[in-house]
Amino acid sequence: MVGIPTTFWCENASEQWLDLMVLDLKSINLPLSVLTALFSLIAPETAEADPMQCIDRSFVVDSNDPEMTDHLCAMATEVRGKLEACGLTQSRPLTIEMVDKVSHPMGDCLAYFDCEYDLVRVTDPASYKDLMGEDASYASLPVMVTLRALLTHEITHAFLTQAAGDRPVPMVDQEYAAAAMELEFMEEKWRKALINANPVSFPPREGLIDIWIYAFSPRKFAVNAWQHFSLAENGCSLIRKIVGGQKSFYKEVRPELQ
Ligand SMILES: [Zn+2]
Repeated sequence: MVGIPTTFWCENASEQWLDLMVLDLKSINLPLSVLTALFSLIAPETAEADPMQCIDRSFVVDSNDPEMTDHLCAMATEVRGKLEACGLTQSRPLTIEMVDKVSHPMGDCLAYFDCEYDLVRVTDPASYKDLMGEDASYASLPVMVTLRALLTHEITHAFLTQAAGDRPVPMVDQEYAAAAMELEFMEEKWRKALINANPVSFPPREGLIDIWIYAFSPRKFAVNAWQHFSLAENGCSLIRKIVGGQKSFYKEVRPELQ
């Protein structure tokens, strides 16, 4: 039986969104037994090897493949170095698990972050082709580029959660930061490939940084987020403001965005 995460992100490869479904189920106060049963269905087909502490002791990696464990340790340290520049700092160790598949009641996930356990799960690159189906934009990337993008995205969720302390960060702000970091730290040619596959109008409008757009078209949301982030007046200073709660795209607190 798994615990019930207070916040849950499930990055799906297709143009399908799972997170809101989970949060909606929670918000309508389903009985605890139903919620527990639902979350117990989020079943990772886990690696059997013991988790390994990376040389960088801020990360623990759980993977069956020693070479992949080394890759994940190195990637996590490198990603953290980049995120720190944007105020996304780590305050607790993070566990990264590589699994064959993460099953969810609504479908299969590529990756997710569970804030209750400081745990990131990513699926094995060998599964990407099957999981991505018709999402040609990501399917065209080398699998290790996709793995790195997924890891950057989930570690951003983790460090934003940690850096914000006890302050809950609105989901739209979480997804904005994760998408912006994912694309910012991707090699330019791959970022361009994703942008070309999911074009959005320019200049980006803040009103379109919206959780419903993320719900229906996460790829376009990501491109719009990165284009907004990359404007000279935004960048890491904006991410730092999200961390500190001085900036938000959540329409409940910024009705002028509607
Ligand atoms: Zn996300």
